Amino acid sequence: SLSDRLGGVFDKLRGRGALTEADVRAAMREVRIALLEADVALPVAKDFIENVTQRAIGAEVTKSVTPGQQVVKIVSDELTAMLGGEQEDLHLSVSPPAVIMMVGLQGSGKTTTTAKIARRLRTKDGKKVLMASLDVNRPAAQEQLRVLGEQVEVPTLPIVEGQQPVDIARRALQSAKLQGFDVLMLDTAGRLHVDQPLMAEMQAVGEVARPAETLLVVDALTGQDAVNVATSFTQQVPLSGVVLTRMDGDARGGAALSMRAVTGRPIKFIGTGEKVDALDAFDPSRVASRILGMGDVVSLVEKASQVVEAEEAEKMAAKFAKGEFDMNDLRQQLTQMQKMGGMGALMGMMPGLGKMRAQAEKAGADDTMLRRNVAIINSMTPKERSRPQLLNAKRKIRIANGAGTTVQEVNKLIKMHKEMSTAMKKIKKMGGLKGFAKMLG
Ligand code: GDP
Ligand code: MG
Repeated sequence: SLSDRLGGVFDKLRGRGALTEADVRAAMREVRIALLEADVALPVAKDFIENVTQRAIGAEVTKSVTPGQQVVKIVSDELTAMLGGEQEDLHLSVSPPAVIMMVGLQGSGKTTTTAKIARRLRTKDGKKVLMASLDVNRPAAQEQLRVLGEQVEVPTLPIVEGQQPVDIARRALQSAKLQGFDVLMLDTAGRLHVDQPLMAEMQAVGEVARPAETLLVVDALTGQDAVNVATSFTQQVPLSGVVLTRMDGDARGGAALSMRAVTGRPIKFIGTGEKVDALDAFDPSRVASRILGMGDVVSLVEKASQVVEAEEAEKMAAKFAKGEFDMNDLRQQLTQMQKMGGMGALMGMMPGLGKMRAQAEKAGADDTMLRRNVAIINSMTPKERSRPQLLNAKRKIRIANGAGTTVQEVNKLIKMHKEMSTAMKKIKKMGGLKGFAKMLG
């Protein structure tokens, strides 16, 4: 992650007085790699770096921070600004029905997102919503929206076989007006590739429906393809916003930066899963830290300090760093994690531990897992706890039996202990937990 990379640069920058061009350029090389790894389109990354470099060189370094801290602050501020700065909601204050037209390629998540937004408008804003599918290319498409409508308790326009998109749009508008709906959502057809007939259809529907919002739905995992799609749509359809789907899983969020830059339109929502409630408002600062891979270190430290005294945490970090972190310490950490709302939450906030969290989540890192691991440590002898390297096959079997679990689980715990030691050594190199938080301002 960027935080790991910048560690080296910070070591060099720490304790010096001002931001020189050489300092900034060195840091920017690392930022550039982080952006590309997060799937930001190359020209967008270049522009971004250029902006930040100009702003950073010669910038005054506030007394209370180091040059390194200053660079990180500028990078993350600029990234947040480029992502739109503020969260932007839908603008639906027109005379009803306010039409929302959903456009995008086939498979981008249009139909699912239509239902998700409709659900949100109904449950959160108390709106009366009608949905209509204009997708006459795929036989099952209209039926798919109807089924989703039942799930989210939002009515759909009755299906009339053989009707063309523009006619369906007209009929939907008529129904929405007559029946007093606040919002009409039009789920349009997609194609596998952008082509002229598709654009012509979008334009024709747009002329009839006069949408208050035209949202481009793009798949965050498709990288450069998503950028090309956005470019084509932007040139031909007046978009008002973007929805990024599949921001669950592996998406690092770089597509968000590219989308914003290419369309010039705000990203309004992100899709975070297949379920109908997996839709979040787009939060620029959160996505910025996701792109930079920094995690929410500040809130980690805040949360941690509610449970552990700061000195205690420093003592622990020092132990980690020296490799003295034993099973007694791990047990104490696990117990604290339980208090802090689970391992997943904690690890997600720690820089560089994202991968570990993914592993832990795969392994089912929840309260049960925490409790099981504490039980395993309890079954160890004091000697084994302070010297985990003693744990051979025979001892592992005894411990597993004692804790009512398997040797496999015992091995997992030992592996986790090792990985935590390694991760904490890295953090120590950056000045410890407190130092790291300070560095981020
Ligand atoms: P459309 O062809 O653009 O209408 O796409 P669909 O709405 O039919 O979605 C295609 C597939 O993507 C479906 O299997 C959806 O469940 C899935 N999908 C849509 N949005 C998301 C998302 O945010 N995350 C994940 N993981 N899957 C999604
Ligand atoms: Mg569809």
